[in-house]
Amino acid sequence: MEKDGLTIVYTGKGKGKTTAALGIALRATGYKKKICMIQFIKGSWHYGEMDSSKRLEPEFEMVAIGKGFVGIIDDKSPKIDHQEVAKEAIKISNEKIQSGKYDIVILDEINYAVNLNLISLDDVLELIKSKPQKMDLILTGNYAKDEVIEVADLVTEMREIKHPFQRGIKAKEGIDF
Ligand code: ATP
Ligand code: MG
Repeated sequence: MEKDGLTIVYTGKGKGKTTAALGIALRATGYKKKICMIQFIKGSWHYGEMDSSKRLEPEFEMVAIGKGFVGIIDDKSPKIDHQEVAKEAIKISNEKIQSGKYDIVILDEINYAVNLNLISLDDVLELIKSKPQKMDLILTGNYAKDEVIEVADLVTEMREIKHPFQRGIKAKEGIDF
């Protein structure tokens, strides 16, 4: 008998949330499972997985939407732009989830999008509620809301013990992006 799909949340301040989701994608493509990762917020930056995911096609599909980090570093976009883009990401997520084409859907950084008020908590709860029974859904990002944690089956909090950033060491190619 096929098992029901899980709702999985990777949250917390420590590093490893997105890479944990990518790890599952790598593992699951080994079984020819179909995976779709939708990256909220990250659109304007480059991450290695945007290229390496292409080698895992057609099983692994990646969609990056968003205008980069919100309100920090080089952010020149007004919040309304970020909100519009995040709404588009929700719409695409909904289409992908409802398509029934995927065994696993990953909503990367979606917890941040809620925390930054780019999308509503209800949008996310609705996505979780509407997922096909057999599909696994993975949500990443710090500040996962209690309501999301409540409905999830598996929740891991990444806890920072040490990070080179604390010593002023910048993000590293292949490790951080
Ligand atoms: P990763 O993508 O490496 O798994 P993450 O998904 O847990 O990290 P995010 O909150 O999405 O973390 O952070 C995005 C970027 O910030 C990544 O380049 C990541 O490596 C880096 N980062 C993650 N955690 C920390 C931290 N505690 N201090 C400084 N930088 C961090
Ligand atoms: Mg991340």
